[in-house]
Amino acid sequence: MSRKYATETLRADAEGIARAAAILRAGGLVAVPTETVYGLAARADSDVAVARIYEAKGRPSFNPLIVHVRSLDQARVLAELSPQAAKLAEEHWPGPLTLVLKRRTGAGLAGAVTAGLDTVALRMPDHPVMRALLEMVDFPLAAPSANRSGFISPTTAAHVLTSLDGLIDAVIDGGACVAGVESTIVAVRTDGSIEVLRPGPIDLGQLSRSTSIEAPGQLASHYAPGKPVRLNVTEVAPDDFSIGFGAYGGDCTLSETGDLAEAAARLYACLHEGARSPKRCIAVAPIPEIGMGVAINDRLRRAAAPPD
Ligand code: AMP
Ligand code: MG
Repeated sequence: MSRKYATETLRADAEGIARAAAILRAGGLVAVPTETVYGLAARADSDVAVARIYEAKGRPSFNPLIVHVRSLDQARVLAELSPQAAKLAEEHWPGPLTLVLKRRTGAGLAGAVTAGLDTVALRMPDHPVMRALLEMVDFPLAAPSANRSGFISPTTAAHVLTSLDGLIDAVIDGGACVAGVESTIVAVRTDGSIEVLRPGPIDLGQLSRSTSIEAPGQLASHYAPGKPVRLNVTEVAPDDFSIGFGAYGGDCTLSETGDLAEAAARLYACLHEGARSPKRCIAVAPIPEIGMGVAINDRLRRAAAPPD
């Protein structure tokens, strides 16, 4: 890994977004705020640009990327939308819902984006900066979370620089992300079946949860702070950095009032704080397995999984 770039921090204004668009047109990498986490964007129609995402993240190339689009029309160019898929998109886009759909061949997507699958993951984000950027360029943007592979996802520009400073061209500083955990991923199959591959901010609880490993990035250790993480902790040890929730206080609290949306928005900031602290372990209070709690516990279980 060579840190060869002088990573620029851009303001989230017209000038900063125009600069980001120019970098992306030239095949560069820009970290961009979205409503979920910061994404590491590259033009999705360029093999060279997409290869740079994998290189900067140190991400295994069998792990496909989510493609961000500006409109339903742009999505239709890249994938076949069944009536159910179109209905989900109309209900939840722009927003934190990713649809895994049958890819159209010849739509110009770089092969590495989909890791050779005949499906593609699409999302129309709901963040003014990412949307302005998508309007300024005439290609869709591949954008995984803007962190080294396996490390904690970023919800501020400072988090991005923690792991990617010198490895990417620029980051747009758009403040903290409001949702705070990655999009819900849903596979919409041509036979009409629908399956949740990753829980997230959009609660589609009525749909079946997948037990398969179809979303490759969903395996085992991920979001790891580089030290042991224990979950459902009600008694904190002296060497613990404690992350509280509701009645359980902590060195950092997800939500004093037990609000799950607030907890999701603060999750990665607390994990980043725990990673930086001199304490040897991170201990997390119990989080109820309801609503946003499902997505929070999913991420916490993988932060706690031993490295693979
Ligand atoms: P990230 O961009 O880091 O939030 O991770 C994106 C995740 O989306 C990947 O790790 C995969 O699990 C999932 N994904 C992307 N494309 C596909 C696809 N074609 N089929 C199934 N899952 C996908
Ligand atoms: Mg990620």
